[in-house]
Order: sequence, then structure tokens, then C-alpha cells
Amino acid sequence: MTQKNFFEFDLESLKNFLTKDLEIEKKKIPMRSKQIWQSVYKKGSFDINKLTTFPLVLRNKLSSLVSLQRPKIVSTQNSIDGTIKWLIRLFDGNEVECVYIPEKTRATLCISSQVGCTLNCRFCNTGTQQLVKNLSFAEIVNQVMIAKEQVNDWGEKKIITNIVLMGMGEPFYNFDNVKTAVEILKDKEGLNYGPKKITISTAGIANKIPEAANEIGTYLALSLHAPTDDIREMIMPINKKFKIKDLIEQCKYYSSIVKEKITLEYVMLRDINDSIRCAKQLIKLMAQFPCKVNLIEFNPWPGVQYLPTKRNKMEEFGKIIQEAGYIATIRRSRGQDILGACGQLRTESEKKKIL
Ligand code: SAH
Repeated sequence: MTQKNFFEFDLESLKNFLTKDLEIEKKKIPMRSKQIWQSVYKKGSFDINKLTTFPLVLRNKLSSLVSLQRPKIVSTQNSIDGTIKWLIRLFDGNEVECVYIPEKTRATLCISSQVGCTLNCRFCNTGTQQLVKNLSFAEIVNQVMIAKEQVNDWGEKKIITNIVLMGMGEPFYNFDNVKTAVEILKDKEGLNYGPKKITISTAGIANKIPEAANEIGTYLALSLHAPTDDIREMIMPINKKFKIKDLIEQCKYYSSIVKEKITLEYVMLRDINDSIRCAKQLIKLMAQFPCKVNLIEFNPWPGVQYLPTKRNKMEEFGKIIQEAGYIATIRRSRGQDILGACGQLRTESEKKKIL
């Protein structure tokens, strides 16, 4: 008999399984599902034999039917700044990257939602890789589980405090799995990440933004990167489909529901989007909805045609925005030496050609 992988259950299907396959009586289902959920997601216990809250007979039956196997790390790269990049091999042989970024009082884990990407943003290395597949919710959550295991993050006080879906892929093109994964990440009996500890970064799939506001409700980061459609279209082909005006409309709605500012991401490309004129155009956009901007150092990768904006020019750009009364921060690049920084993630998984 093939075993079912535990991580493919959401809470609802776990309860069904416990009822139907384990034949646990109905009134005990909430307790039993809570026990196993807590043991895995809260305590990081991956051995069913240690689930001593379950009677032995039940435990034996469970371990014959369910496995707690997780994808494996195939390589680990440590940056001099403390950032760690793990390359994870999924059960189907595809590979994804996930990056751990420690800071003084917190640590962020950057996870992927797809293998490869369809968007082809010109400055992004993942964009040079075709879309291979959408990750399942289990594969998304398992990146967090694997990272927690690596840094031994099962104590009362979390080591990994924040999770960002800013790795490979476009989260809103894998909406349902991202939604379920976020539900599992948020579950109070399990991983217990508050909605404000999770950020989804989108290239701007405008028609999905309202749905995300209503059904997912995390922080939202919008990869804007340009203040006009002309420039944006040049560096992000997705702008042909969803214009800045539409994005602003949907972001307005998002912030009205989630009651938080949207973070605009703005990767600074020398002589492309970093002029004073661009800063002034950006201010006009920022006036239209609650938002702040995060100016991102461009991380080069082999073969890319862009150069990073110089630091003093970035600061000047940021200052213009701040003087207009908006929040502008400059995100320092982390893990550049291991190609673990934003837009540098790329795996060798290639879409299998259909012959
Ligand atoms: N598809 C989503 C999430 C993945 S990219 C999105 O577009 O938001 C995560 C962030 O890294 C995005 O803001 C993206 O534009 C940015 N990024 C991509 N390539 C980069 C690079 N080379 N240097 C710096 N940031 C980059």
C-alpha cells in the first residue's frame, strides 16, 4: 500500500482521513487532529512512534498509512553575511531554492511558489528559466519546515520570525496552493505565523489582488519597479497585460481590506528607472493609495544587461520621496556572494520538453 504524505493534508482533509482511514470516533477527531498537527508543526517531531499521545495501536496504524518524509536539501551555501541558501530537491526531482536571512532581532525566510517563472522580468534571473511547475501547498510549507529544522527553530521564541513569498515564481499564478500554504503557516495550533509576519510579493497580477485581500490577507508587496507604463513595460512584460492604473485601483482595495500599507518594491537599474524625474513620477503614484517604497539594490547575475544604480544616487532618489512625506527605505542586498539575493535564484530544473 502506498503511504500518504502527511504534508499533503490540510486540517480539513486530515480530519477526514482520521475519520475514514483510521476509524477514530467522531467526537475524538478535533483532539486527535490537534495532537498530530501540533506534534509536527509546533514541535517539529517527524517520528510517528514518538506521538505518545496516540494509543499504541492507533500509532502503529498511523505509521503504516502516513509518512512524514520531507524533500531533501541537496546543497547549502553560506554567505559571509550570515545568509544561507538551501537548494531543495522535491520528490519529483525538481529543485527549488529557499533563503534564510538573519538580522539583529529577526530572521526572514524567503520561499518559492513555483519552479521557474512565466513572467520574464528582464532583470530577474529566475525569469531566464521557463516555468517548470506550480509548487503544491505541501512543497511550499515544507520549505519552512526544512529551514526550521536546519536552524532548530522549535522553541517558544521563534528564530524565523518572518516569511516572504519572494523566491522563485509568481505567487498569484499559483493562487490556490499559496492560499492553503498560508492557512497552514497561520494556523495557531501549528506554525503560528500571524498574517503580518507573512508577505506575498507579486509582479502585479491585478485581477488576483482583490481575491488575495479577501481570502489570504497577508502583507502585500507589489513589484512596481517603474513609475510609468512605458518604462515598466520595457523591463516587465506583464505590464502589457496589467497597467499601473489597474494595479493602483486593486492595491487601493487591498489596503482598504487588509488595513495596511502596500510595500512597493523598486529595483534600481542604472539609467533606466533611477532619474529624478522618475522619483517625482513615483511620488504622484504614491499619493493615490496607502503605500511605502522599498528601494532595492539591483543584484547582477551572469549575462544580465543592467547595472545597479550607485549608492549615492539611490540615497538621493530615496530622499526626494521622503521629502514628499512618504516612507522610502533602501533594502541592502543580502547573500549576493552565493547568488541568494533577490532575482538571483535559478535552478537547473528545466521544463521537460514534450516530444
Ligand atoms: N514574482 C514575484 C516574486 C518573486 S521576485 C514578484 O515579482 O514580486 C521577488 C522580488 O525580487 C521582486 O520584487 C523582483 O522584482 C525582485 N528582483 C528580481 N530580480 C532582481 C534582481 N536581479 N535584483 C534585485 N531584485 C530583483
